Amino acid sequence: MFERRRRRQVYEEAIRYAANGWPVAPLAVPNRGVCPCGKGCVDPHLVGEVVRDGYRAAEVWADLGRTADSRELATGRGTRKAAAGGASGLGIALMAEWFDVMELPPEYGALLNHQLKATCPTAMAPARRRWWFFVNRGSVPREQVLAAGGVLRSGEGDWVPAPGTWLEETGRIRWLVQPYLTGWQPYQRRDPIDQIFL
Ligand SMILES: [Zn+2]
Repeated sequence: MFERRRRRQVYEEAIRYAANGWPVAPLAVPNRGVCPCGKGCVDPHLVGEVVRDGYRAAEVWADLGRTADSRELATGRGTRKAAAGGASGLGIALMAEWFDVMELPPEYGALLNHQLKATCPTAMAPARRRWWFFVNRGSVPREQVLAAGGVLRSGEGDWVPAPGTWLEETGRIRWLVQPYLTGWQPYQRRDPIDQIFL
C-alpha cells in the first residue's frame, strides 16, 4: 500500500520537475543491500536516460513501475527481497545540468538559509545535516564551497537524489524551500548594482 502511494508520488513528482524545466533521471535506491537494478549495490545510481520534458517523464516512470511490478510477481510478493528491491527503491535524480547544487555543512547551511529568506530552492539531508542550495550555474566558485567543507555538484552527469528520497546515509531528504516558491528558478546572485540596472 505504502509502496503504491510512494510510487505514484515519484511518478507525479518526476513529471512536475521535468515539466518545469528541471532535468530528471530514474534513480535506483538500494535498501539493506538490495538494489532495484537486481544487483547488490551500495550507493544509489542512475538507471535510465535524462528526461527533459513532462510527457517523456510520464512514459519513463510508468515503464519503470510496470517493470518493477513484473519483477515482483516473478520473485514473489511478501519476501523481503521483493519488497526492498521493488518499486519503492525507484526514485528521481535531479540533474545538475543548468543549475549547480551547493552542498554545505550545518554551520554554514543554517546561516545561509536564514539570509536567503526563501529566495533559493533549499533541501536538507537530516541524518548528515547537510544543506543543499540550488543556485545558478557558475555563480559560486567551487574553491569557496570546498573551503567551507562543502561539495559543488555541477555539470552534465552530476546529480543529487530528489527530496523525498530516503537513503540509509542521509535519512529522508526534504525540501525546506520548495522550488515552486521561486518560480522553479535557482538562486540568482545580485548585488545592488545588478538590481538597479535590471
Ligand atoms: Zn543497482
